[in-house]
Amino acid sequence: MGGEERPALLVCADCGRAYEEEVFACSSCGGLTVFEYPGSRFNIDRREPGIWRYRSLLPRLERVVSKGEGLTPVSRLGGVLAKNEQRNPTSTYSDRASSVIASYLSSRGVPGVRTRFEEDFTYSLVYYLEGVSAVEVVLDDPLSLDRSDVALLARARNVRLTSRGSSSDLVDLSYLNPLTVEGLKTIAFEIYERGLRVERVVVPARTGLLAYSVWKGFRDLEEAGAEPHYEVVAASIKGSGRPRVLDRAKSVRVVEVDGEEVLEFLARLWNRGVSTKPLSASAFAVAENLGSSVAVVTIGFRAPSGGRSGSAGLRREIVRVLESYGEATAYEIWRRLPVYTLRGTYKLLESMERRGEVCSEVRPRGERKVRYYIPCGSPRPERAATS
Ligand SMILES: [Zn+2]
Repeated sequence: MGGEERPALLVCADCGRAYEEEVFACSSCGGLTVFEYPGSRFNIDRREPGIWRYRSLLPRLERVVSKGEGLTPVSRLGGVLAKNEQRNPTSTYSDRASSVIASYLSSRGVPGVRTRFEEDFTYSLVYYLEGVSAVEVVLDDPLSLDRSDVALLARARNVRLTSRGSSSDLVDLSYLNPLTVEGLKTIAFEIYERGLRVERVVVPARTGLLAYSVWKGFRDLEEAGAEPHYEVVAASIKGSGRPRVLDRAKSVRVVEVDGEEVLEFLARLWNRGVSTKPLSASAFAVAENLGSSVAVVTIGFRAPSGGRSGSAGLRREIVRVLESYGEATAYEIWRRLPVYTLRGTYKLLESMERRGEVCSEVRPRGERKVRYYIPCGSPRPERAATS
């Protein structure tokens, strides 16, 4: 087991009650527990994959499940440094959380979890838990699923979709848990490791958990003897108020942005060839207004072919990829054209198939059936002997 290393304790972020055992919600007050690393120093081990280079301040786990999450690039856009979380395996910072969760479940030998459908988080989790653990995805409203959701969830053999959940003894897992915090906080470690010369880190806030986690990352660094000196700013849409989870992180400043301003930034970014979501645009807006900031965002770059709409250009790019490769799965197309999210790519391919712009066929690959997209009207692609 731990050997000479002292075990990481869990402490309730609300009332401060300490736990020697792994308790994911405080039994006194119901608050979120978080990992603590008393006596640990901050070390970077570059031999470890993905976020696990920061193992010295992550939960002590024997097994690591990493799919290349983290170490996302920072680029300058106008007056703002943008840390682009779209460059994670499933296009979202949730992959950092999924890596810690999957590693935990693998290390503890947990055979199955149950989770409520939460779009990006669920897709990411399903992707990371393939081969690790079964996932029961509970949908409150099955009618809210569209075809691309089903395609994405059903392609993973470890997933069971249900509207009410079974009574079996699966471990319940929601986005809000101590492992998610440990994964997301590695954004702070990366900013510190790169030594970015800005005063503050601006994080989009909906639930506030991302801002809380980045704040905790800097706090863990301080407690481990480092001096990060960054202010954490949570950007939220006007009227949504201070997220409750930030009650635990008093030094996080919440800055609200007007909806109009978010739309203005969306359009301005789009005209610069950048596609992003309103939540990321709000972080951009706050970062630009405050100055000296790095914004944590998910952004893609429009296909260079231009045209009236970006999607027309992207559709042409997809056809071009299919013509040069002969065939590709949706996932392979997305890896080559990471403009959209993986889910967006599925949606786009479906609409293209309905319009007759691409065709597809389902063939077995290994033990499962896989949908391959091919150019329409072209002869069957010659299969490379090595494929
Ligand atoms: Zn408590």
